[in-house]
Amino acid sequence: MASLIAGPGGEAVAGGEKKVLLASPRAFCAGVERAIQTVERVLECTAGPVYVRKQIVHNTVVVADLQARGAIFIDELDEIPDPAPPGTVVVFSAHGVSPKVRAAADQRGLQVVDATCPLVAKVHAEAARFAARGDTVVLIGHRGHEESEGTLGVAPQSTVLVQTTTDVATLNIPADAQVSYLTQTTLAVDETTTVIDALRRRFPQLGEPPSDDICYATTNRQRAVRSIVDECDVLLVIGSQNSSNSQSLVGIAQRRDTPAYLIDGPDDINPDWLTGATTIGVTAGASAPPGMVALVVDALRAHGPLIVSERSVATETARFILPQQVRTP
Ligand code: SF4
Repeated sequence: MASLIAGPGGEAVAGGEKKVLLASPRAFCAGVERAIQTVERVLECTAGPVYVRKQIVHNTVVVADLQARGAIFIDELDEIPDPAPPGTVVVFSAHGVSPKVRAAADQRGLQVVDATCPLVAKVHAEAARFAARGDTVVLIGHRGHEESEGTLGVAPQSTVLVQTTTDVATLNIPADAQVSYLTQTTLAVDETTTVIDALRRRFPQLGEPPSDDICYATTNRQRAVRSIVDECDVLLVIGSQNSSNSQSLVGIAQRRDTPAYLIDGPDDINPDWLTGATTIGVTAGASAPPGMVALVVDALRAHGPLIVSERSVATETARFILPQQVRTP
């Protein structure tokens, strides 16, 4: 496989050459690496069947790989035979689960390994704290997304979900209520700011989380895309359709009138997208394997010579320790 970066600047594009601009940071975040490694360790150490509730991370390539290695992906715990075969383990995905799901697993005596990202767990803790002090909690997130479902389940009587400023306008909450907001970790920062501003206008005393809920990895990948997108004729975002943070990267480009496409890998590239494009931006969502970037760049080389350069806006050093049951001593 050819080296990704052909030269330091890549500024000049010789006749017929296309330029590929890689956004950095991109691909796996610390929470996704931890979740995948958790399933790998459970598969290594467990004699019984290994169930994973929901996709461990929202990436079809990752899921297919773990499936091939023995993981059984299920939507709900009732898909696990009752009684469960000896040695059965169920892994909760990086997106987190509601207390109701934990209680159902406890009730059945299932052995659970929880791969919920610590940054999602932080939002759950905030939801519990806000609800306990009597707030109405407005969660900004995507309806039906696993992370939102899990957070909504922390304090279901006190929490409402909004997606847009229109949802804010139609919220059925008295003006004098004590209201706080939280957000899903993978939203587009610019869109979310608009929704928070609308909430502040309706509820001037709005309570907020002590630090941003949109996580460092989501924020960095969006900043990186913003740093290249105006120079790109087209942006390829590596990630799966159900990946919220990857969809956010596509949205940033599209709101700046740069055509952007979500692809799982090189096979999804439509050559028509590249027609007339001189500069092709490439990035990958937090749930997409970093190795897929090299495969996409190699596929682009099939369309002619490339000059590849990278624009980095941050260095990521975050690492999360593994769940206690799969830690090596
Ligand atoms: S995108 Fe953020 S919240 Fe989600 S798994 Fe990665 S680090 Fe955790």
